[in-house]
Amino acid sequence: MPGALEVLSRKQGVIVGDDVMALFKYAREHKFAIPAINVTSSSTVVASLEAARDAKSPIILQVSQGGAAYFAGKGVSNTNQFASINGAIAAAHYIRAIAPAYGIPVVLHTDHCAKKLLPWLDGMLDEDEKYFQAHGEPLFSSHMIDLSEEEKDENIAITKKYLERAAPMKQWLEMEIGITGGEEDGVDNTGVDNSALYTQPEDIYDVYAALSSVSPYFSIAAGFGNVHGVYKPGNVKLHPELLGSHQAYTKEQIKGTEDKPLFLVFHGGSGSSKEEFLTAISHGVVKVNLDTDLQFAYLQGIRDYMLTKKDYIMKQVGNPEGDDKPNKKYFDPRVWVREGEKTMSARVKEALSDFNTANQL
Ligand SMILES: [Zn+2]
Repeated sequence: MPGALEVLSRKQGVIVGDDVMALFKYAREHKFAIPAINVTSSSTVVASLEAARDAKSPIILQVSQGGAAYFAGKGVSNTNQFASINGAIAAAHYIRAIAPAYGIPVVLHTDHCAKKLLPWLDGMLDEDEKYFQAHGEPLFSSHMIDLSEEEKDENIAITKKYLERAAPMKQWLEMEIGITGGEEDGVDNTGVDNSALYTQPEDIYDVYAALSSVSPYFSIAAGFGNVHGVYKPGNVKLHPELLGSHQAYTKEQIKGTEDKPLFLVFHGGSGSSKEEFLTAISHGVVKVNLDTDLQFAYLQGIRDYMLTKKDYIMKQVGNPEGDDKPNKKYFDPRVWVREGEKTMSARVKEALSDFNTANQL
């Protein structure tokens, strides 16, 4: 069986346009989903790339609005999204520069952009267009716009406007409809009734009809009981089988021949079971967002290091082996930050294996 690399014209580094489409089509057909890892630093970028390289997998790296500001540095003002725009651009250039060294295709994406954050997306699109002028492709492979808090008609109308701007660059746009519970990036849906957490097939088709008239390069994050952020098991019932009804309904409406006309995205997956992921993937989920689990995984290595090496990091010289023993090799950040990279990388590998992404290259 030919691997996913066969369908790509650029086989390593950041991919764009038709390659992104080809990769998602291949994933949908071969029933795997690509984990989208929220990165906030060069350290979390390389931890993710290392996992994907070792697992022979494509990977999606994404920055959130807050993560992008962190990339710029917490000391930089975020008035008018200044830090978030510049941090996202810096992350993009860094990832574009280093990704080819890992020999795998990488989708460079930006995460949730709610209505009040649209100036962030505008700033990134300005940079995409500049980059497109110079290089014939956008800086970012794709962006996400999240107007799921707005009324459906407004959500679709504004999303369509942004797709019109992205379309000439063949840039991918991910959108969200319905409510994903929990709290993330300032959107708090923890108080929403459970029955409101499921998007209806008619809504999905309305999105498809409006957006497909502009460009084929889009995907939909639909609510099927997902919860963003911290997940309390048993609090919410996931119904990934609903995604199958979305596909069937849209297929019927467009009298299509393809069983899965939609590209779907799984948000709020932290804590979900492997079976829930696989059911969602079998219904056309090609991207799964992973943030919370990886934040914890990154912490684990550093936490354990600090606890087990406590007596070697309290002063520059002097440890249980002698008062004159130097501790430089214990407090060098390359040593202890690396421990976080190892545990994060191991967790990314687990996701790559769970979502059938491993060995697809
Ligand atoms: Zn979401």
